[in-house]
Amino acid sequence: MQTKLFIDGEFVDAADGATFETIDPHDGSVLANVAEAREEDIDRAVEAAGRAFPAWRDVPAADRGRLLLKLADAIESDAGNLAALETRDTGHPVRDTLGLDVPRTAATFRYFGGMADKFQGSVVPVEQGFLNYVVPEPLGVIGQIVPWNFPVMFTSWKLGPALAAGNCVVMKPSEITPLSALRVAELAAEVGFPPGVINMVPGFGTTAGQRIVDHPGIAKVSFTGSTNVGKMIARGAAETLKQVHLELGGKGANLVFEDANIPAAVNGTAFGIFHNQGQACIAASRLIIHEAVADEFLERLIALARSIRLGDPKQETTEMGPLTSALHRDRVASYLELAGQEGGEVLTGGAVPVDPSLADGFYVEPTIVQTRPGTRTAQEEVFGPFMVVHKFKTDEEALQIANDVAYGLGGGLWTNDLSRGHRVARELRAGMVWVNSYKRVNPGSPFGGIGISGYGREMGFEAMREYTEPKSTWINVDAPPKPFYPR
Ligand code: NAD
Repeated sequence: MQTKLFIDGEFVDAADGATFETIDPHDGSVLANVAEAREEDIDRAVEAAGRAFPAWRDVPAADRGRLLLKLADAIESDAGNLAALETRDTGHPVRDTLGLDVPRTAATFRYFGGMADKFQGSVVPVEQGFLNYVVPEPLGVIGQIVPWNFPVMFTSWKLGPALAAGNCVVMKPSEITPLSALRVAELAAEVGFPPGVINMVPGFGTTAGQRIVDHPGIAKVSFTGSTNVGKMIARGAAETLKQVHLELGGKGANLVFEDANIPAAVNGTAFGIFHNQGQACIAASRLIIHEAVADEFLERLIALARSIRLGDPKQETTEMGPLTSALHRDRVASYLELAGQEGGEVLTGGAVPVDPSLADGFYVEPTIVQTRPGTRTAQEEVFGPFMVVHKFKTDEEALQIANDVAYGLGGGLWTNDLSRGHRVARELRAGMVWVNSYKRVNPGSPFGGIGISGYGREMGFEAMREYTEPKSTWINVDAPPKPFYPR
């Protein structure tokens, strides 16, 4: 396991020798001492990326793609190891890291490997005598700052399109979960990515992250994280006028209509909120349910929530692990307290599990709270296994509640009425909507939000556009060229 910085094709110590600890959230033990990138290390990484850029841009697109395909293969071959590392660093159960996260990481690298030589420009039908073509050009050095909730997957979401398009990257994983990203960098070096094309520099936000935002050699910052830090990044990036792509928080609305398939909706709702301990920007954190089916639905949902197997994420049978850090567990716990102060009724959960084998870990029970739509618990992102419930009588009321938050990332609805499905999907203020499902993602489908959930998109052709700038070139094909000043 590499815990050094990966700069210019080599694993190196931080310039000043700084390190930090990453913690196993199951028992609070120290997992590794990780080299900590600070400003000087970011500068070294940006210089290396800048030096690598001209040659990398000129590598034929198909060959850039082939390297991404090889990286996808290497990730698949290393799946057991990568999943175990991710599970220990994040607390995400191994059944998910092995069953979902690592396969999705490989699939996303593979998608963008295939995309590299298919993302092409255009010829514009301009006036006679001219040829005008538009080429999507890479931007140069991209700074990427990612959070701790799906660290291995985010390497592919961000590196995949940026590299396929011909950019070089300086990526800062979260200081809370740096290990899987370092392993991906190591695999990338093994499959032959040239030095400097990928630089992996774990460190803290206010030092390493801030330097990425400020550095004049970086053309664009792609950030995934909280809305507050996203705002700071947008403000900071304005100084050098670098481009910004922001994937921020969410408060997903999950609407259940009276005609829904209740067992399917119960199952999808539980997955929507409790998968990865609710630490997902697209979590179904608000259940908005028709009053006619609310009692039956909640009875089934509560029974399912109580049956979720909470425990050591390394066990294959575990369905829910600990929250990723002690600090975050405390933050989630503060919302449990707030819910009570705001008059919310805890329907299930709301406590730290009593099982003594989990006492040193950062565990919180699956929690469901009935509360009013305007409360802070119903408006703010909790980012934990914490769902609020609101009831409605009409479609209009359901939509009014759903759209009454400043976030606009993911949302879902459950109905057997086709017209209602399309109508409500259209009216939901969100970048992604699932009908009779929840939390589907695919490398080809654009991922991102509106409002305070940010702007720009990961995945698909949209991601390739994020990492390129269209260059328009005019060729005068008249012979001889028409003079500007006929004499
Ligand atoms: P965070 O904003 O605290 O940190 C995210 C990253 O930003 C980390 O790498 C951190 O070191 C860095 N950072 C912190 N301060 C910085 C600064 N001043 N300058 C530059 N970088 C800085 O978020 P988090 O707690 O790690 O992650 C949880 C948040 O991420 C939630 O709000 C969640 O909704 C969001 N998220 C969004 C998406 C999405 O795609 N929209 C996906 C996952 C998570």
